[in-house]
Amino acid sequence: MMLLLGCGKAAAPAVEAAPETAVPVVLTAAPTAQAEQKISIGVAAVETAAPTAAPGPLTGFVIGLDPGHQLVYDPAREPVAPGSSETKQKVAGGCRGVKSGVYEYEVNLDVSLLLRDMLEEAGATVIMTHEVLDVNISNVQRAQMFNEANVDLGIRIHCNKSDNSKTAGAFMLVPTENRTKFYEENVRAAQVILKAYCAETGLSMRYKDGITYRNDQTGFNWCTRPIINIEMGHLSNPSEDALLSDPAFQVKMARGLFNGILQYFRPDLVAAANE
Ligand SMILES: [Zn+2]
Repeated sequence: MMLLLGCGKAAAPAVEAAPETAVPVVLTAAPTAQAEQKISIGVAAVETAAPTAAPGPLTGFVIGLDPGHQLVYDPAREPVAPGSSETKQKVAGGCRGVKSGVYEYEVNLDVSLLLRDMLEEAGATVIMTHEVLDVNISNVQRAQMFNEANVDLGIRIHCNKSDNSKTAGAFMLVPTENRTKFYEENVRAAQVILKAYCAETGLSMRYKDGITYRNDQTGFNWCTRPIINIEMGHLSNPSEDALLSDPAFQVKMARGLFNGILQYFRPDLVAAANE
């Protein structure tokens, strides 16, 4: 009742100023901050009442996927962290399958697109830094895309290489504690998702617990949201190359990542399933 009276009083000049548009009149009619708040709540309620896709277990979560690298690398430099005089290439070249010849950027994008579809199917909002290879988006820009979308978790998706062709396994990078406000979330996400990934794919976990801590990653240091980086395996290892470059195996890779993301955001579902 009070809200209606308030609107009525303030609405008169607004109507005169802009008689041709009905909606702005309502929105600009608020005479006080208090009334404005009430009106905006009302507007939000109307918006959420609009028809949307059927809710899934990840509805309401915003997940960022950054398929590592791109068709052509960018050797121009950018600061490795805000305010830093140290610089790195805007986009490094990535690695290549030692036997298959597949480019890392292809594997990264193919798996990311499969994962995107699985996440969207489960109701998540997915923010992709790119969906085609012929782009030029620096690591700072990729981080900023995640910041602007306010992602609940950003995942940088890569493959690794080693000078030793026997080196194998998947692992995670997370920002060191001084580079993130979300250290504990990041470590938990990395643990849960890597474990699920290795379980689904059968790939081994490199290092003792599969996690390495990095303060030198541009894509981490510019990101103000929770963020992790998976290295899905080694393209320098002939047997892992054969798997990582296989489209059928890539579905398993995406499924493993999806399982882990679901477990990370919805541990309640996992607990219920185990009862
Ligand atoms: Zn890479």
